[in-house]
Amino acid sequence: MENIRVRIAPSPSGNLHIGTARTALFNYLYAKKTGGEFVLRIEDTDLERSNQEYTQNIFDSLKALGLQWDEGPDVGGKYGPYYQSERFDIYPKYAQILLDKGYAYECFCTPEELEAEKEEAVKNHKAYVYSRKCMNLTEEQKAELRAKGVKPSIRFKVEHKELIFNDLVKGELKFDTNLIGDFVIMKSNGTPTYNFAVVIDDMLMKVSHIIRGEDHISNTPKQILIYEALGAEVPKFGHLGMILAPDRSKLSKRHGATAVSDFVKQGYLTDALINFVALLGWAPSDGVEIKPVEDIAKDFRIHDVSSSNSIFEYDKLNWMNGQYIKKMDISKLTDMALPFLSKYDSKEFGEFTLSKMSRENLEKMIEITREPITTLSELEHDCAYFFGEDVDYTEGMETLQKLEAKTVLNRVMELINDWNFNDDESIHNVLADLRTEFKEKHSMKPKETMWAVRAAVTGRTRGADMAKTMTILGKETCIKRIKKALEF
Ligand code: GLU
Repeated sequence: MENIRVRIAPSPSGNLHIGTARTALFNYLYAKKTGGEFVLRIEDTDLERSNQEYTQNIFDSLKALGLQWDEGPDVGGKYGPYYQSERFDIYPKYAQILLDKGYAYECFCTPEELEAEKEEAVKNHKAYVYSRKCMNLTEEQKAELRAKGVKPSIRFKVEHKELIFNDLVKGELKFDTNLIGDFVIMKSNGTPTYNFAVVIDDMLMKVSHIIRGEDHISNTPKQILIYEALGAEVPKFGHLGMILAPDRSKLSKRHGATAVSDFVKQGYLTDALINFVALLGWAPSDGVEIKPVEDIAKDFRIHDVSSSNSIFEYDKLNWMNGQYIKKMDISKLTDMALPFLSKYDSKEFGEFTLSKMSRENLEKMIEITREPITTLSELEHDCAYFFGEDVDYTEGMETLQKLEAKTVLNRVMELINDWNFNDDESIHNVLADLRTEFKEKHSMKPKETMWAVRAAVTGRTRGADMAKTMTILGKETCIKRIKKALEF
């Protein structure tokens, strides 16, 4: 069997985009499924737009998503360097081979001349292709231009034919190369263009399958022509449909987060994110959508990937994230939750700050608060009453001002000294007794009795398990809050 090697080749001109994460995932899945290798190459040739922070963000995001590469800038490998910017000395050699074989030629056209050609095409309502003005320059003419200080670019001579290839995702694709025009492979400043560098790198890195977004489909014929001219084996291509926003426009920041690290900041779990993006264009054979990447890899078939665009449903992501939050190991979830609760570390919360809460109570708090939430960022609101001596009574005020609530709370004050706050079960039982008592003596609904207690202790009318909330807060705090509530 051929050696399967796939790659992800992001340009570090921004934080890792969720779309790039999906492309990385599909490459990763293909490698896992076939026992192949997954390569990371950083395409930082556009030095002005690339920066180290973005590169780091790409590393961190891919790792957080569990997409570990087998070869890449940090881990090395046989076919490095894996930063394109460190490969500048490689490209001229191959450009020279193409020049020598007659597959490329030097072009001395100035930007103004090219602009004029383009304008002419627009005027004549024609698609622009380069005129080949420089294709047949003699050695003398070239020497003359050089003497004038004009630096040439190198253009690839496009053979006119119908180019057909079998896309792994989209099936047979045909292109009329007449429409391509001789394109630049080396700029006059000696740097390669994307289409050239990517072919040389993929060729030298022995990439066998190129799975990427369909926004690159118009580049593919150019790249295939270069492989053919170099006599190299043409890799297999698979182009994935795009990810669109719910309104079917390009996914952008106005729809919500787009960078993986922004999703994380908003409280999405990377396990949920990666599971979610796997379903953008692919469906599990057993219909079970929630599963870890290792299971997805076993089931993954590139030929089953949908060739159409996928809609990024934030609502579905929220739902899925909620499912992961409910199932996540509590200790791990607590670690992930801490950054979202950092507000409660400030002095204004007195003795009841985040860092003063015991690990046991932290885990218990997260355990009882996680059920309804869809993102970790909701914890800041939902855990608010666990911090500080006082609470905000806005929500519970109406309940607390009722006479029956006062009756309940006065009764609690009579009993509370005997309650055992070291045992959830026993608090659970005394609250049940309280409900029964108020039902029998005062015909109060059980939930009305609990509303009074909850409003007094948390300031709210809804929230986490009451018995556990009370044991986390402790007897003293509960008493203080109930006393305060009785004043309303
Ligand atoms: N650097 C290119 C990008 O980020 C890579 C394209 C490709 O996969 O060939 O779009």
